[in-house]
Amino acid sequence: MATPVRVRIAPSPTGEPHVGTAYTALFNVLLARKLGGEMILRIEDTDQSRSTPDSEQKVMEALNWLGLDWAEGPDKGGPYGPYRQSERKDIYPPYVDELVAKGHAFKCFCTRERLDAMRDEQRRRGEQPKYDGLCTRLSPAEIAEKEAAGIPHVVRMKIPETGECRFTDAIYGEVSIPYATIDMQVLMKADGMPTYHLANVVDDHLMKVTHVARGEEWLSSVPKHVLLYEYFGWQPPQFMHLPLLRNPDRSKLSKRRNPTSLSYFSNQGYLPEALNNFLGLAFVAIADGEELMSLDELAARFDPASVARAGAVFDLTKLDWLN
Ligand code: GLU
Repeated sequence: MATPVRVRIAPSPTGEPHVGTAYTALFNVLLARKLGGEMILRIEDTDQSRSTPDSEQKVMEALNWLGLDWAEGPDKGGPYGPYRQSERKDIYPPYVDELVAKGHAFKCFCTRERLDAMRDEQRRRGEQPKYDGLCTRLSPAEIAEKEAAGIPHVVRMKIPETGECRFTDAIYGEVSIPYATIDMQVLMKADGMPTYHLANVVDDHLMKVTHVARGEEWLSSVPKHVLLYEYFGWQPPQFMHLPLLRNPDRSKLSKRRNPTSLSYFSNQGYLPEALNNFLGLAFVAIADGEELMSLDELAARFDPASVARAGAVFDLTKLDWLN
């Protein structure tokens, strides 16, 4: 039997939800409908210094306003969800221990001062700053001594010294990124909180996510994720990295040039269907002057392969025309 399709949106509740949040959510909703699967909502709030309940609330309100429903919540008749990583923090440490035991990750006792000095020196040499591997060379006795002395540590993943990570992205095609450019990512912070990379991979696996569709700014993180899947012996999901929304002159969408927060559109009286149809122009064939389509109608015409790599253009005049 084929694996049931499961997609997810995984917003970090660190500010006002914006059109990019809606764009990714819409893509995932249409993908789930098209493939007969479901979408889950996972709040990625492991960065406790930046996450706020207010922002989480606004994300959910915006999704509700747009009719971009997620599965599994009590309000949807299911027992779980939305998932919150901060409520799952006991789940991650055994996975980190497993990686350390298998030699795929290591404890790093370097102080902030040492790391800052190391990075300054690398920048001075014109190099991209990345961890130099000092703590990979500690003996078990040295590690035990530091731990006994109560020196705080993070856990970092190991990265192969040579070769490249190859993977297929449904939008970018074959991608290869040399391991030499990848940093030994921190997986667990000194306070025991997982970082985005670890929690994201563990959760996508545990939540049986089959397709990861998210913004292209995450493409460069895929080698770390692919390595983690390999280290754990898990099957990676299918990756799809969506081009960024752009201004009509193709520059990166910025708040200074355009209103981008979703509350602006709801407060201005824009129809949620108009915003969905407008954002859907990037992956649904809609001719000028057509009637607004429902999510089911958009899903019927949805073609994930049609997402232009060059970026979808966020042209407010077009939105006004649809509204
Ligand atoms: N938490 C990430 C964000 O806020 C999501 C990345 C992902 O979907 O894997 O954009």
